[in-house]
Amino acid sequence: MSDNLYDLFESRFPADLSSPFIETGDGRIHSYADLREVSGRYARLLTDLGVRKGDRVAVQVEKSPEAIFLYLACVRAGAAYLPLNTAYTKAEVAYFVGDAEPTVVVCRPESEAVAMEVASKAGVAHVLTLGQADDGSLPERARGLDGDYPTVPATADDLAAILYTSGTTGRSKGAMMSHRNLGSNALALHRIWGWRAGDTLLHALPIFHTHGLFVATNCVLLNGSSMLFLPKFDLDQVVALLPRATVFMGVPTFYTRLLSDPRLTPDLCRTMRLFISGSAPLLADTHREFQERTGHPILERYGMTETGMNTSNPLDGDRVPGTVGFPLPDVELRVVDEKTGEPLGTDEIGIIEVKGPNVFGGYWRMPEKTKSEFRADGFFITGDVGKIDGRGYVHIVGRAKDLIISGGFNVYPKEVESVIDAIDGVVESAVVGVPHPDFGEAVVAVVMRRPGRDDLTPERVAAVCKEELANYKTPKRIFFIDELPRNAMGKVQKNLLRDEHKGLFAG
Ligand code: ATP
Ligand code: MG
Repeated sequence: MSDNLYDLFESRFPADLSSPFIETGDGRIHSYADLREVSGRYARLLTDLGVRKGDRVAVQVEKSPEAIFLYLACVRAGAAYLPLNTAYTKAEVAYFVGDAEPTVVVCRPESEAVAMEVASKAGVAHVLTLGQADDGSLPERARGLDGDYPTVPATADDLAAILYTSGTTGRSKGAMMSHRNLGSNALALHRIWGWRAGDTLLHALPIFHTHGLFVATNCVLLNGSSMLFLPKFDLDQVVALLPRATVFMGVPTFYTRLLSDPRLTPDLCRTMRLFISGSAPLLADTHREFQERTGHPILERYGMTETGMNTSNPLDGDRVPGTVGFPLPDVELRVVDEKTGEPLGTDEIGIIEVKGPNVFGGYWRMPEKTKSEFRADGFFITGDVGKIDGRGYVHIVGRAKDLIISGGFNVYPKEVESVIDAIDGVVESAVVGVPHPDFGEAVVAVVMRRPGRDDLTPERVAAVCKEELANYKTPKRIFFIDELPRNAMGKVQKNLLRDEHKGLFAG
């Protein structure tokens, strides 16, 4: 029996294959029959080009149905799908292609020149240039290719994708994802989020990361249902399509942007049953405000490229703001002491480690790095810092790399951020450690004020911190900023803030 992920999806396609799978923002629809046919024809094309089991196929195609069909074509051909963001610079494409050494690079005409140059340097056998972006005639275009295609049998451990991490803390690493990793996680999410007949996902996420690609798309495929597929988060388009959707997945910035719009009302969300957030911490204020405005408590979950999703707040039951809920079925999660690796007790803060069928096989061509991120008993060291409370809810406190050690004391940025964020007139803050001649590192806060709240001064922020935090945790310097720097997934880029302020206390 084959464990090819595509076979799992296909076993759950709707009986009527003319059912819609993807509807684009301009109303074009591709059915499950289209999905099967186009992915099959592309799989044949890849095989004809020499792609064999275990080979990588890099795909640099904008968010479109065609990109999703290419993902499934790679899986069907037994190759590892490697999505490349269309926003990447030539140097970035060169890094990923050079690292992954794909057999084929797939691109559009406008990126062909770069793809050719990069591919020839990396010894890539083929550049496959598709037609212009999908004009709605995709199945017809694919019909020019050879006919029906048998999906390549795969074992559960075979590679289905190499997905690069977001690069928030350093250079992106290629996470090797097997058919089991992706299939088990999708099944778990499908179950716990109660996917049902008639569900429609409003998809406004990028598809180059685990969130938009695997969490969102794989759930829809397992459910045999449809998604409204927007090229990106566009407030007007999201507002226009919400009344046709039942499930929405977003990063926290999507929710703050929705909240800034007066059109967000309970009526706008009348067909919705589930709003999900992840990829970055959702502020408790955002959660509460969204619930007040729409009646919907956002369901926050936590995961990462290397593991897919690890935890989720419950579908039924308390979705506790500021927590990421409980470990998924089959996922073991523990919090350990960073130095000793000993498991910690309730409410004790330490490093989060996970184990389960969701956890990746290792970093692509980084055996040493892989070894250092796994414990002997198979747990993966996530690098996230958190705790488990008395009710079993997991709290993410931050990343180990963002931990500040000031005068020998540990400072968790989130603790300071929570104090600052609660000040009237503050939208959000980011707290980082910068080099300091006496303390090793000093705490620096970068704060976003609410519009029109110029009356809020650094002195006021400092006074509140002084009142509520031990001296070593209080920011030595406070800066105001219009927008915190974020990457495509809405993650605050603390490395940029650290770089900007690194000379602050020098000499
Ligand atoms: P890199 O590993 O390259 O530095 P990255 O960790 O941001 O980048 P991803 O794998 O896309 O790359 O992101 C996973 C990380 O996102 C998690 O390790 C965690 O730090 C953060 N994260 C995801 N969901 C949540 C959440 N609900 N709350 C807080 N943090 C979250
Ligand atoms: Mg990471």
